[in-house]
Amino acid sequence: MAGRLAINGGIPVRSRQWPLWPQPAPRALKALSEVLHSGRWSVSGAYRGVETFDRRFARAFAAYNGVAHCVPAASGTASLMMALEACGVGAGDEVITPGLSWIASASTIVGANAVPVFADIDPHTLCIDPEAIGELVTSATKAIVVVHLYSAVANLERLGALASRHGLRLIEDCAQAHGATYHSQRVGSFGDVGTFSMHHTKVLTSGEGGAAITSDHDLARRMEHLRTDGRCYSNTVPKIGEMEVLETGELMGSNRALSEFQSALLIEQLADLNEQNALRRRNAELLDHLLTEMGFQPQQSSLGTTSRTYFNYAVRIHDGELSHVNITHVAQALSAELGLAIRPTYAPLYANRLYNPCARRRFAISAEYLSRIDPSRFDLPVSQRAARRTLTFHHAALLGDAADMMDIATAFGRVLEHGGELHA
Ligand SMILES: *Cc1c(COP(=O)(O)O)cnc(C)c1O
Repeated sequence: MAGRLAINGGIPVRSRQWPLWPQPAPRALKALSEVLHSGRWSVSGAYRGVETFDRRFARAFAAYNGVAHCVPAASGTASLMMALEACGVGAGDEVITPGLSWIASASTIVGANAVPVFADIDPHTLCIDPEAIGELVTSATKAIVVVHLYSAVANLERLGALASRHGLRLIEDCAQAHGATYHSQRVGSFGDVGTFSMHHTKVLTSGEGGAAITSDHDLARRMEHLRTDGRCYSNTVPKIGEMEVLETGELMGSNRALSEFQSALLIEQLADLNEQNALRRRNAELLDHLLTEMGFQPQQSSLGTTSRTYFNYAVRIHDGELSHVNITHVAQALSAELGLAIRPTYAPLYANRLYNPCARRRFAISAEYLSRIDPSRFDLPVSQRAARRTLTFHHAALLGDAADMMDIATAFGRVLEHGGELHA
């Protein structure tokens, strides 16, 4: 039947493939092969006469972000754990973080035996609302973990001022924002520590991986110990066959190191990042224009943002439109038109079924602690409402051309027009 939505058996807007992600850099295979035959696959392997890829990547990524230090790590989660502990967050401390983010934003805080305190978000940027933070600060608060979500940069000016006024550490979770800038300076370099994920989905990836950056020498040294089982690189070149990491015992750590394969791959992938970010930005700007004309409200970034990085494209349905339909159903209708996964935002953390710390024995430290980390004590209306009205899709779809953006806009227009075909 003409005009029927694809989800109801109509002809979809598009059947062409979308760009594949990840995309290997031109010299990725050569770099991986070099590690394969090097006799050194890990930081904590014997020195073979050449610098580790871990050190080379750390130098390249620190330079890219304009900071003095980078400590590569096994994942974004591992990087956040190192950052929190290096900043002195521990048992019973409170850490303020946004109510809308990926699970790791909360699971890492309880992972350090601290208490996540969720702050509501700004409805336009979907990032933590500085206005909401003040009243959450108590004598137990140690840090703020800000997340630059989807394609936005949080209001770093206000957050920096808040953190210093209250004597709190500021950690920037840049897992979704590699390369974004604020006042022409890279995100991750504003807080005490900036953390990154190089997971498969992220804009810079080695399948799994992460990194923490900082300008503070002591924080960097603590993070290195925390990720290398209490060891750190020696300042002198070791003899061939000797360990390159020294057992200082300065600070007990865990093994959260990145393998040499991943570091070598990241050095190559990093060379493509700026160009891919620019392409995504150009396509996103075109899509912003097309969707805004139909009344949709694309995610905005904070005033002061000079360059955005698109991890996900996020757009809000305007009030009064499709209000009878569950957002999941709208997302499914769009996915069917496009052959592309369109999803609602994350569920607010306190209502996310993946975040359930009270079910884990390791957090049953005391009845008091369990009640402090109980997610059900939170209720954040702006996060809740954004989650009910916002659609997102992965950045791979922004690596195409203008015709791809037209397809996306056409699908949004069609679902809006035929919303009556969708059931509540
Ligand atoms: C992906 C992500 C993480 C966690 O990174 P992993 O590499 O999956 O551990 C943390 N925070 C945010 C905002 C993320 O998107």
